Amino acid sequence: MPKLNSYSDLRKLQEFINARRDPSRTCITVCSGTGCLAYRSQDIYGAFERELEKHELRHVVDLRKTGCYGFCERGPIVVILPEKICYLGTKEKDVPEIVEQTLVKKKLVERLLYKDPATGDRIAHMDDIPFYKHQHRTILASNALVDPKKIEDYIAIGGYSAAAKALFEMNPDSVVKEIRDANLRGRGGGGFPAGRKWDTTKNAPEEPKYVIVNADEGDPGAYMDRSLLEGNPHSVLEGLFLGAYAIGSHEGFIYVRQEYPLAVENTEIAIRQAHELGLLGENILGSGFDFDVTIHRGAGAFVSGESSALMTAIEGKVGEPRSKYIHTAVKGLWDKPTCLNNVETWANVPAIINRGAGWFRSIGTENSKGTKIFSLVGKVNNTGLVEVPMGITLRKIVFDIGGGILKGKKFKAVQTGGPSGGVIPESMLDIPVDFDELDKAGSMMGSGGMIVMDEETCMVDTARYYTDFLAHESCGKCVPCREGLRQMLRILNNITTGNGREGDIELLEELAEFMQVAALCALGKTAANPVMSTIRHFRSEYEAHIREKRCPAGVCKDLISYAIDKNSCIGCGTCAKNCPTNAIYEIRASAVSKDRVFAIDQENCIKCGSCYTVCPDKARAVIKTPVRSFAERV
Ligand code: SF4
Ligand code: SF4
Repeated sequence: MPKLNSYSDLRKLQEFINARRDPSRTCITVCSGTGCLAYRSQDIYGAFERELEKHELRHVVDLRKTGCYGFCERGPIVVILPEKICYLGTKEKDVPEIVEQTLVKKKLVERLLYKDPATGDRIAHMDDIPFYKHQHRTILASNALVDPKKIEDYIAIGGYSAAAKALFEMNPDSVVKEIRDANLRGRGGGGFPAGRKWDTTKNAPEEPKYVIVNADEGDPGAYMDRSLLEGNPHSVLEGLFLGAYAIGSHEGFIYVRQEYPLAVENTEIAIRQAHELGLLGENILGSGFDFDVTIHRGAGAFVSGESSALMTAIEGKVGEPRSKYIHTAVKGLWDKPTCLNNVETWANVPAIINRGAGWFRSIGTENSKGTKIFSLVGKVNNTGLVEVPMGITLRKIVFDIGGGILKGKKFKAVQTGGPSGGVIPESMLDIPVDFDELDKAGSMMGSGGMIVMDEETCMVDTARYYTDFLAHESCGKCVPCREGLRQMLRILNNITTGNGREGDIELLEELAEFMQVAALCALGKTAANPVMSTIRHFRSEYEAHIREKRCPAGVCKDLISYAIDKNSCIGCGTCAKNCPTNAIYEIRASAVSKDRVFAIDQENCIKCGSCYTVCPDKARAVIKTPVRSFAERV
């Protein structure tokens, strides 16, 4: 493609591409996000190439690799456009049947369609599947429409038209105003208004100015940013470009985790292609504006997600935070004004410039506008990436979109905001999801991790897990965070192993208060949130561990034993086959009129829980019992 030298060149290229594309033509899209690739979706793509060739359909059917479709639990996903016929859990061996039935005979392959768990009905169309039906996909929707490695796909759907509009029809001030009017709040954690941040950097006296994409996604279980960079890297690049133009920056950085190889690869390709077309570099589209972007690979430290630590890492030093008496928007990278936003925030910008602040404001709540992408994981049926309007209730996300709790168990809590957030109990499931309401509930929006927990989750152990994670990830620079986390972890370890003492809860609260006030950066200031929120909503569980040496959820190994209920055991022997220490033995069971039942040798049991997991549902003979009352129960 020739280099573009004007706005009209870009328009002509878009017309040229679309003139050769027929939206009514069949297009097979194969999800090629990391989740589906792990299930060999590249083999599925290859099989489609061969089958289309065999049936001489290549000239009438398109084939496209796309970014993440979001329903990761049910991948690999194949969606046939324009009807949006959605095949889930597809395998390479299914491809000949899909081509033969759906493309040639115009019939559906029923067994690959979504099955409604309540009615048993099959659902053919993607938008009718509850997982998608209740979402509001403005950003993720584009993942299905583009091959992330092809800039022409992005241009075909209007890509870079917001950049051109800003360059030729708006001035930098009006771009900032549009973002301010939209009330776009940062999607990376605190929800700070992006327009205000842009304004501060723009008005800071020093030059040069920098813009940064924070793609250092470190929350356990979260992968929203990875999927956006993998699936539609040009949308992030275009957002960054718009920020640079508005602020007056000519150099940008994308700080992305080294552990995200596909995101890095697709972003590198996107930058190269944008350069070749004249959408990055000098004199972009003949406007006289210059802008360039460098990818910086992070080594995976959670603390590098903090803005000042991230900037220090880009400077080539150890990624440690610094005190922010002067904000990074004024003195950031190399002490120059720097505007940092996360991936999802930047990805929202082109749509706001194209469709206007009013459109963006029409979605969401009073103070939280637009949509938010969550990575819905944990003990929920439909794990995956969901994009919902701000203000939706947690109940709708967990039950309508997420399909409820795995194996019909009871919902207990949902952790939002990752390790810096907190747990929200069932009594608060109907609060609207927005920045302020989640804060009020003792949690936070964070970057969008959402971990669902069922009745078999111990809330003290959950607090211990996050505290352990943060104690390892603390850079150790400031005493409140470094020592506070260590002491909290020591107390939580004591409680979960039956060594908790009266006064431990109060001590945890005291430490938390101290860290919130005195820690240097956001990691330390928010590190106590999981502990505080679990104490606030599940104090009785702490008390049971401390006073009764009992784990009500049956999770803390030192407080439980496994036993086999002889009356329920059907003698199948599955547990014995799966026990890693051969602790399960067979006994004759004349007393209960059975050929055989099994029992556990407590001396050899390491409490791995395998027997509990594999014992068939029809028996459920393996039980967890508190250590203290073990003798009474068996
Ligand atoms: S908990 Fe693990 S080690 Fe203990 S009996 Fe069951 S399978 Fe064996
Ligand atoms: S798996 Fe369950 S039912 Fe089968 S032998 Fe073990 S305890 Fe009994």
